[in-house]
Amino acid sequence: MRDKTRLIHKGRGDTGTGPHPVNPPVMRVSTVLFDTHADWRANREQRQHERVLSYGARGNSTGFELEALIADLEGGAQARLFPTGLAALGMVLLHYARAGGHILVSDGIYAPVRTICRDLLANYDVTVEYLRADCTDFEEKIRDNTDLLLCETPASVLYEMIDLPAVTAIARRHGIAVAVDNTYASGYLFNPLEHGANISIIAATKYLGGHSDVVMGIATCDAPTAPAFAAMSEAMGMTTSPDDAALVLRGMRTLDIRLSAHEATALQLAEWCAARSEIAAVYHPALPDHPGHAIWARDFRGANGMFTIEFETSINRDRADAFADRLELFGIGASWGGFESLATVTDPQPIRSRADWGGRGPMVRFHAGLEDPADLLDDLSKSFELL
Ligand SMILES: *Cc1c(COP(=O)(O)O)cnc(C)c1O
Repeated sequence: MRDKTRLIHKGRGDTGTGPHPVNPPVMRVSTVLFDTHADWRANREQRQHERVLSYGARGNSTGFELEALIADLEGGAQARLFPTGLAALGMVLLHYARAGGHILVSDGIYAPVRTICRDLLANYDVTVEYLRADCTDFEEKIRDNTDLLLCETPASVLYEMIDLPAVTAIARRHGIAVAVDNTYASGYLFNPLEHGANISIIAATKYLGGHSDVVMGIATCDAPTAPAFAAMSEAMGMTTSPDDAALVLRGMRTLDIRLSAHEATALQLAEWCAARSEIAAVYHPALPDHPGHAIWARDFRGANGMFTIEFETSINRDRADAFADRLELFGIGASWGGFESLATVTDPQPIRSRADWGGRGPMVRFHAGLEDPADLLDDLSKSFELL
């Protein structure tokens, strides 16, 4: 089965015989009842190594279907759901945190992760160090006590690429676990576990939900990592509502056609912007002059709807604000991956520690939605006229 078909046919459970719904039912559950204490005890034993209904805080059957669909797409042994993408990233960090340990994080990581590293891990005597966004300095930063590399490719905001097969080969030699934030690729354009990573994390809030009406995180583990990670997630009481799982499952059925449309529109807008004289740089991994383009072309099956433009330094932040404020079809707001276009003025300096972004022009991060690209271009043109 190809991935496009998996999106449609996996994660629908045992559909049974006779009249039955296309979708798995939304199972709202806290208490689960058993016929006998023997059954109840057997279930407690079974849930140690299998996804079975036992109690709502341990998951529900709607969520189990979503986990199965993601694990199948990501090529992992098991997926686990979290209330948000950030919660999934936090769980990964906690899972590998040990007093006296050392964790490496790529500089292009989703910025709020830095708060966990600074305000929580430091209190537990875990040292966190940031690598360059492309992780080319990984090997030289490894110490005897390094436990984990947490990285994101392409990186948030500027889309630096990591040569993941090279990085995981180094990690294996040193016995270091590798976890990758795979939100950009949504488990569909790239699969970190196939390139040697141990955990792949996706903010389902973005393209999997796809309609700006749900937040969720998913972490998929390889077979050796799965049991202990699942046990820790359950120990921490991590689960999500069946309604949210149903929304994400529904979003995923159309992931292929939505991503293709986001990709085509973003590339059209990015190329159009790149030709403007007011623009110093356009950051999009599918553009041939992007520094990570060769890695992207080798490892990825496509791009999503994100790109960032950098204005010439003659344009100050206020003018960049005015440019973005004037846009009528692009919203100002956090997140992305919904059906709608977004444009937010962004500054990498406070969210990066390994590169100096001073002396550069202001930047605008775009999400190309599912509108007619001609309307988006018209809207952009008017903002360029204002400039
Ligand atoms: C949005 C995002 C997250 C966090 O997801 P939430 O559901 O908003 O917590 C994590 N990683 C990346 C790359 C993201 O873009």
